[in-house]
Amino acid sequence: MKSDIQICRDTALTPIDQIAQMAGIEPQDLTPQGTLKAKVKPSILKRLADKPEGKLVLVTAITPTPLGEGKTVTTIGLSQGLAKINKRVIACIRQPSMGPVFGVKGGAAGGGYSQVAPMEKLNLHLTGDIHAVTAAHNLAAAAIDARLYHEERHGYEAFSEKTGLSALRIDIENIVWKRVMDHNDRALRMITVGKNEAGKTINGLERDDGFEISAASEIMAILALSKDLADMRQRIGRVVLAYNIDGNPITAEDLQVAGAMTVTMCEAIEPTLMQTLEGVPTLIHAGPFANIAHGNSSIIADRIALKLSEFTVTEGGFGSDMGFEKACNIKAQQANRGPDCAVVVATLRGLKANSGLYDLRPGQALPDAIFSPDEKALIAGFDNLKWHIRNAAQYGLPVVVAVNRFPQDTDAELELLKTMVTDTDFSTYVDVAISEAFGRGGEGATELAQAVVKACETPANFKPLYSLSQTLEEKLMAVAEVGYGARSVELSACAKEQLAALKKQGHDNLAVCLAKTPLSITTDPSVKGAPTDFVVPVRELKLCAGAGFVYALCGNVMTMPGLPEKPAYMNLDIDADGNIIGLS
Ligand code: ADP
Ligand code: MG
Repeated sequence: MKSDIQICRDTALTPIDQIAQMAGIEPQDLTPQGTLKAKVKPSILKRLADKPEGKLVLVTAITPTPLGEGKTVTTIGLSQGLAKINKRVIACIRQPSMGPVFGVKGGAAGGGYSQVAPMEKLNLHLTGDIHAVTAAHNLAAAAIDARLYHEERHGYEAFSEKTGLSALRIDIENIVWKRVMDHNDRALRMITVGKNEAGKTINGLERDDGFEISAASEIMAILALSKDLADMRQRIGRVVLAYNIDGNPITAEDLQVAGAMTVTMCEAIEPTLMQTLEGVPTLIHAGPFANIAHGNSSIIADRIALKLSEFTVTEGGFGSDMGFEKACNIKAQQANRGPDCAVVVATLRGLKANSGLYDLRPGQALPDAIFSPDEKALIAGFDNLKWHIRNAAQYGLPVVVAVNRFPQDTDAELELLKTMVTDTDFSTYVDVAISEAFGRGGEGATELAQAVVKACETPANFKPLYSLSQTLEEKLMAVAEVGYGARSVELSACAKEQLAALKKQGHDNLAVCLAKTPLSITTDPSVKGAPTDFVVPVRELKLCAGAGFVYALCGNVMTMPGLPEKPAYMNLDIDADGNIIGLS
């Protein structure tokens, strides 16, 4: 089979204004960026206010291997499948971060005959939204260090006299806003800023700092959760950057930087319209992590798509314990709109990896055996799929399992998996279809599309696991105990103190975002399958007042990834005609 980029290049694409027209997006709603991508103005929602909404289909997966189980391939493939059976459909996905593109995973445009095109545009820069997030975020970082420097240099009173501003009295030991960039650069995880020449304070005040990847920025989470520009402005104003010497929060509003940050984001708030290889309109918007943030594309893009189509297909990051949970508990509650159907992507390789029969060490290559026939491992790994089906079903959603077929998969094992699903009594709506979307595009996903249409006809009874009026602690327990099935949540002494402080500051009504490994349902990446009787330890809590959640660090979570020994960038090149080579 041809490489992803070759398939993409050999496909004749439709000019983006025609894609827009077919989707019902009028020229006044559109700012074309070249011929194959265009920004869509959120003001379109005013024009569409009276239109009914279509169905929202949320694609999730079993506990993944680091290779990914094919949610994006299935999201794009299912959209093409729905279009093949004559449904009006729009796909909504996140913008890939360039960190993984150059690092281990490669691109995130889907793959094979189910891709967003042109994939090289999607994977690299696109319309610059991630750069805008980076610039807005780093403006606030520069603002803190500058203010700290000027207030300290003059003394608080003299500073106030000189500027007419009240001194913020920033606690240099309690600045919580780091810098960000869109690269995997482990050397920047911990840095020193404000270094001065001996005896001269001209550069700032020396302190420890660090970088995170832009996908981990609260500004990215805000972009995905904002309802409109006014809402984004308010949220950016609420972001807590540091604490003062009395321990009180200093926000972007206090620093008077929130306006300029929002200005920097004024084009990023517009989703980017692209197309799949089969011409299905696709909205690309935001790219938050699915651990320390909610891991889903934007509320604005979903709203536009729901108004314009019968089916909106979107994807939550990692397994259903991660992006899907956060889509249902964080995003859906903020959007006031839950999904109508869950699609759980399963692969033979992923289930075998969850069998507990192989020694899988984080950071090491997966054993060849999981890519070969092994019924015993498949049967043992099935428990993990059952767990994710039940997890999705407990939100009141009908579930369709999409078995994502890889080239090496045998018919016998695929049929066995299908039978295992049909033979299990879930006591809720569960259907299953094999998807050949990677190898055959929409044609290979019509069975899946029919199953999704049928599932969406059943009355969905969506309910999140908690309501925002519960306490933060109750919400943590709801996700860990009801969601993951853990025995209990264990708060560290530090987390308990933070919980009390957050309550005092009036943040008990925020959502919770559990940041843990995606490689296990538990917080320990080596525990596979469908574990029970485990504890969820919460090390630390972090306030994201602008995004509207408190994130709980459970185990080690990397907010600045590193590059591997042989990074994907080594394969990347460009010829004299500007053709990109080696992007996958
Ligand atoms: P996810 O969104 O779940 O992380 P992706 O859809 O990005 O996963 O797929 C992960 C990787 O696996 C991509 O490189 C993709 O092209 C590849 N892939 C997914 N499904 C298939 C398949 N059926 N056959 C071959 N490769 C696939
Ligand atoms: Mg994906």
